[in-house]
Amino acid sequence: MYYFRPSLADLLAYQPGEQPIAGTEVIKLNTNENPYPPSLKAIEALRSINPDVLRRYPSPFAEEFRQKAATLFSVDPDWILIGNGSDELLTILLRSATDSERSVAYPVPTYVLYRTLAKIQSAPIAEIPFDDTYTLPADNLAKASAALTIVASPNSPSGNRIPNDALANLAAKLKGILVIDEAYVEFSEGNALPLIKRFENVIVLRTLSKSHSLAGLRLGLAIANPSLIDVLAKVKDSYNVDVVSAHVGAAAICDTAHTRTNVKRVCASRERLSKKLSEIGFRVWPSDANFILTRPPDGNARKLYLNLQKSGILVRYFDEPMLNDKLRITIGTDNQNDQLLAAIQELTNYQK
Ligand SMILES: *Cc1c(COP(=O)(O)O)cnc(C)c1O
Repeated sequence: MYYFRPSLADLLAYQPGEQPIAGTEVIKLNTNENPYPPSLKAIEALRSINPDVLRRYPSPFAEEFRQKAATLFSVDPDWILIGNGSDELLTILLRSATDSERSVAYPVPTYVLYRTLAKIQSAPIAEIPFDDTYTLPADNLAKASAALTIVASPNSPSGNRIPNDALANLAAKLKGILVIDEAYVEFSEGNALPLIKRFENVIVLRTLSKSHSLAGLRLGLAIANPSLIDVLAKVKDSYNVDVVSAHVGAAAICDTAHTRTNVKRVCASRERLSKKLSEIGFRVWPSDANFILTRPPDGNARKLYLNLQKSGILVRYFDEPMLNDKLRITIGTDNQNDQLLAAIQELTNYQK
């Protein structure tokens, strides 16, 4: 017997990158985690938690974290909704804005979770292809006139940030909501936050998972005007963020000096790795994120992915149109990146 909604029977579950069990010796460049530790202030906040706070329910809006974030982003706290990672905020958005008659649109290739969430919600989906330069297909997105349009910027797996004027033009044309998923924006120059004040239909998503080295903590933020945030708040679980995460996150988000240093190191390593891969004939797309999209000279990305895996180096391979000749590689430390390069040179005859 099958006891569930028929649409779920052949839904492919979202496939996160492989997570090896703790203690396994691998170089993990497959899920865009940060190679450096989180802020010492966040670690100190974690150590100093009074166990008695665990006895009570947490603040429904993770107030401690929300207040700190509001100050940092120069908005009132009622412009922010905190989520259990930005993935949860995407779930809340899909549940709030879409149903079987209210569609979702996004450019592809992009973060595969958008498709999974739309299917769970039985929402009609418009997937609008990017071209080879990953320029925003704004006209076709506007034509789709979806209830919810989602643009990852910087986009994954291409790595490029979408300029604000392109996002603003799209926001102006849409009758529905425009979600700008800025999971990687700290690794780029500029961001779309100014658009939330200009457009009442724009929501910006941020996360502590990548730039703040806190993927395990699960903290994301939705930032938009209160007329949007108030509706999302109706749909979220009462206590969606736990007391430990809110407290640690508040310390982390305030340590902007740590984030800046950390991000700078990753960006320097990104330029170094991009250059070295280009020198051995890989095509490397320009990245504003903590990963790069790259095509090996022979286009046999699947083989290289499997061979690297055997050598204990995990990178991401997507068996999807437009991507099956490419790899997405998270930027590690220079040392990890050098081991990757050495393995690539050993496995292949791609030489200078
Ligand atoms: C990593 C990622 C997220 C998820 O972030 P969490 O806050 O860890 O849930 C959201 N969107 C994109 C595009 C991502 O790559």
